Amino acid sequence: MKTSMRDCVTMVASLALLMTFAHADDETTVRSFAVGDARIDVVATVFPSATEPARVAFVSVHDDEDTVVEAAGDVLRERGGRLLELRHSGAREIGFRLGGTQHRIDPNRIFTPAGRRATLERLSAWSQPADDVVAAFADELLSTFAVDDVDLVVALHNNTPDRYTAANYAAGGPLAADAARVSLRPGGDPDDFFFVTDTAICEALADRGHSVILQNEATVTDDGSLSVWCGRMGIPYVNVEAEHGHRIEQAAMLRGLLDAVAAVRPQRAVRGVTQPPPGCELVNVHAVDPTIVIDNRYATKANVTGMRLYPANEVFLERSAAERLARVQARLRGQSLGLKVFDGYRPLAIQKALWRIKPDPRYVADPAKGSRHNRGSAVDLTLVDAAGQELPMPSEFDEFSERSHLDFTDAPGDRLGNREILQKAMQAEGFRPLPTEWWHFDAPGWRAFPVMDANPYERPLFPDEPAAESTP
Ligand SMILES: [Zn+2]
Repeated sequence: MKTSMRDCVTMVASLALLMTFAHADDETTVRSFAVGDARIDVVATVFPSATEPARVAFVSVHDDEDTVVEAAGDVLRERGGRLLELRHSGAREIGFRLGGTQHRIDPNRIFTPAGRRATLERLSAWSQPADDVVAAFADELLSTFAVDDVDLVVALHNNTPDRYTAANYAAGGPLAADAARVSLRPGGDPDDFFFVTDTAICEALADRGHSVILQNEATVTDDGSLSVWCGRMGIPYVNVEAEHGHRIEQAAMLRGLLDAVAAVRPQRAVRGVTQPPPGCELVNVHAVDPTIVIDNRYATKANVTGMRLYPANEVFLERSAAERLARVQARLRGQSLGLKVFDGYRPLAIQKALWRIKPDPRYVADPAKGSRHNRGSAVDLTLVDAAGQELPMPSEFDEFSERSHLDFTDAPGDRLGNREILQKAMQAEGFRPLPTEWWHFDAPGWRAFPVMDANPYERPLFPDEPAAESTP
């Protein structure tokens, strides 16, 4: 029996969304998503390349911006690469009905909690069920873009003359606070420009004579866009922005970008934000529901590391996930059962410590990518009876073996039944299971929360280590 602190890098199955796959030809794949009663297709086209193509996701999220899709086709046919395109109604925004209410969103405003709320409120109305389906859609969209595996996200956009321009970011302009650097090409059309999160790419593009804006990570408005999300996640991001109809100009920009990228070789670097951003709050599970049993295994020495990593037997979660968990607890109370939580939010520093001890991605998520636990949206837990005694499950918690898989059936019926009760109760409140770990669940919208290196414990982490030297 191989036991370990298996982590959560495996793909999560999508249960909440209808998905179908169809092949138009060898190179094009269509993936369909349901948001309320709307159907959104993500068309992925792989352009073959003679050499190893750069790990770049080219994405078009606005269905009314066709010039850039044509320009990207022109360039990727020469250079190779993968293009992902949202298709639904031919319009910029996505309308959907849910529970008898009509909603509307901008698909490039759904990647953070604050942005999601703002786009629903601005274009229709916010409600928790609408927020949940949009959050789940954003998660699936980011998975389809393969954001965990790329070194660069290139967003493809077109604009209407003189509305959204590079000049808006210049000093005194309406978007000046969003920009850390503004480099305008003399005599260039201000509608044709790059907006980037990576300093080296910014410099390389400016050197090549392009107009380019560098996002200011400290002051940028959290509008839920892909640029804000990528900036928070440490994933290099480039928006290739040009006027509708500027196909030749935009193709030239894309060639310039690929040359710059080849020279700079951008790399993702998950930093971990030290403060939860607005719309994200870490709360003590015990404070939200004192009836949930807490058994943080990494607050004891009885774990693989032989060290206490957390300073107290407490578990923190992002507030919306903790409140969701309290609803599961209420649901189980009717069956005289309850939850026992082993782990929730995990500071990035602890992830790094686990990685130092066991640098194996089968067991521990690579801190360079971040674990779902680092976002406060993943929880590891089991069932207890009315007396607080753990119910038997097909495997131990943190056991790395087939017995931990959800499709494992070679166990006594009561153990399989207990696993089923836990799965049903968690999924009824929207939590997503992990096929390889019966104890692990993700809250919907988990990708919207950044990897955090916050310490909510009010005491130093790693209590077994000698205290760091204090500066006078
Ligand atoms: Zn887990």
